[in-house]
Amino acid sequence: MTASEWASDASPWTWLCGDLHTHCEDTAQIGNYVDRIDPRLDFVALTNHGQKPVFFEQHLMVADLRQKWQSGLVLSGVEWNAPEGGHACVVFPPHANEAEHAYALSRGFDRHLEGAKPDISGGLALLAQLPAEQRPVLCFNHPAPGQWPADTIATYRDRAVDGLVMGLETVHGHQGYDAGTCWDLKTYPGCAPGGLADMAYAAGLPFSLLAHSDFHIHKQDRLFDYGPGVFNHTLVGVPASDHSAEAIFTALRAGRTCAAQGHWLRLEEMNVGNADTRARIGDSWQGDGAQAFVEFDSTDEIDSVDWIGTFDQQSATIIETVANLPAGRHRLQLPIPDGARGFLRLRVLSASQQRPAPGPQAPKGFFTSAILLNSPTA
Ligand SMILES: [Zn+2]
Repeated sequence: MTASEWASDASPWTWLCGDLHTHCEDTAQIGNYVDRIDPRLDFVALTNHGQKPVFFEQHLMVADLRQKWQSGLVLSGVEWNAPEGGHACVVFPPHANEAEHAYALSRGFDRHLEGAKPDISGGLALLAQLPAEQRPVLCFNHPAPGQWPADTIATYRDRAVDGLVMGLETVHGHQGYDAGTCWDLKTYPGCAPGGLADMAYAAGLPFSLLAHSDFHIHKQDRLFDYGPGVFNHTLVGVPASDHSAEAIFTALRAGRTCAAQGHWLRLEEMNVGNADTRARIGDSWQGDGAQAFVEFDSTDEIDSVDWIGTFDQQSATIIETVANLPAGRHRLQLPIPDGARGFLRLRVLSASQQRPAPGPQAPKGFFTSAILLNSPTA
């Protein structure tokens, strides 16, 4: 069976490029912000903190941004000082009430707002009672050591309605200066084998791995950072014919994402399948006699391609590594044992440390979200 035959039973996803975590704390700087957006970006969210005075004017900035940047979708959100944890972006589908919902969450449940009662269940209940089409997605931000313990992430997932608490920043933002580049991609808690992402997959549910800029336009005179879509970005798999906000939110909730640093790797296909059927990123594989398959194009030389996960619900590790590949197109396979239960995800690290100027030189990572393995014969 060839790869193209495998791919024939479903049309390939179109991967849209997004950034769900950016800031502008000066209404006069929206034009400057727009000037820094990469033309490859398809959607962006403005996610200011609730304790900043400008936050309750964010709806004006979002309206201005929608006027000034019409080549993509603008979303409205908040970077929540989340109860019992670090920061979490809560991003709303476009709707007349989008800002009101973000303001209510902050006033009610933010750790840094006077009069608020920071309570996980209360905050999540407020979001759960919204009509489904107005309900946001939540992701855990910059999970450096000490920011987001695995059990707190699990608590949020347990107490939220389905699809609300959907993912994690796999890599740190701020990759334009040392606040982001000081972290090693092999050990950063968000992406390390057996780290926070992998502990979240132990629940056996879809989970989205994400990469965002955490761009602050109002700090650019003293602290260079990459604008939205220039470096860190989230790829979201949508049907070729549907690039709507609804399709993007559906993909985020389904764990159908990749976390990418730079634009050097194009994922063509990744699945677990046999002669009859296959599961793609975010899907759950339920069969035997399977192979994992990945095909991608890279403009950079590659340091390593790692299959990460578990076949027996133990803690996740690197299952297999292919090292030192040239630039170009690659197809890799991995046999999946019958009865496998767990998950499988892919990490690709570049050999080149070249990043867009004037950022620092450092390795670049590409991380897929997982395919879940749920063999019925286990
Ligand atoms: Zn931020």
